[in-house]
Amino acid sequence: MSKNVVIIGAGAGGASVAAEAKRMDPSLSISLVEGGPYTSVAA
Ligand SMILES: Cc1cc2nc3c(=O)[nH]c(=O)nc-3n(C[C@H](O)[C@H](O)[C@H](O)COP(=O)(O)OP(=O)(O)OC[C@H]3O[C@@H](n4cnc5c(N)ncnc54)[C@H](O)[C@@H]3O)c2cc1C
Repeated sequence: MSKNVVIIGAGAGGASVAAEAKRMDPSLSISLVEGGPYTSVAA
């Protein structure tokens, strides 16, 4: 069964964590929760 990861905040830090976690384990199901109007475009 794949693991679910929820990351609060989709700025530089949150998006970087999401990208690195996915590189380490491509089977992860990752959700980014962003309270603001924009997500990072630089991860
Ligand atoms: C005016 C300004 C200009 C800058 N210019 C540059 C630049 O040119 N080059 C550069 O490299 N750096 C620049 N920086 C620095 C850069 O923006 C920060 O270093 C970087 O954004 C930090 O990333 P972070 O993910 O730690 O935090 P943030 O970018 O602050 O990301 C955190 C995110 O979490 C969200 N969040 C917080 N609480 C919640 C919650 N409870 N639920 C959901 N979402 C939540 C916020 O909405 C936010 O989007 C600048 C900063 C400022 C203020």
